[in-house]
Amino acid sequence: MSELQDLYQQVILDHNKQPRNFHPLEGKAMRAEGHNPLCGDRLTLWVDRDGERLKDVGFVGSGCAISKASASMMTEAVKGKSEAEAQALFELFHGLVTGEAPVDADDPRLGKLVVFAGVRDYPVRVKCATLAWHTLRAALSGGRTVSTE
Ligand code: ZN
Repeated sequence: MSELQDLYQQVILDHNKQPRNFHPLEGKAMRAEGHNPLCGDRLTLWVDRDGERLKDVGFVGSGCAISKASASMMTEAVKGKSEAEAQALFELFHGLVTGEAPVDADDPRLGKLVVFAGVRDYPVRVKCATLAWHTLRAALSGGRTVSTE
């Protein structure tokens, strides 16, 4: 394993062990549930909006290290951004983990999310990595349950 991959692994393990924004939101926050039956990942995601801006994002759930770390880092990445910026970041992230679209790993918008670049070599893990993002999209579009199947 290269030093870089090793570093990426450490970031993912850290977020899995101590997920950020790992709590429900109170009040008028919008909420959606995500489920990845292939792996057994489940999460509930809350988004509190202030106009276009995603003022606060929180989640709870259980699943594999990739799904939990991805949810944790997604909340950090989109908090404070506009909905349009969050959608654009999802497109970028999706391209990164699926390898379907060419993505510049140095794109400053990706930031730490680049640690998920290796997921493209494990197609079954793509759903783990994108679950939180699909759930965010569901919450923003009115809240419902999403399943990766
Ligand atoms: Zn998983």
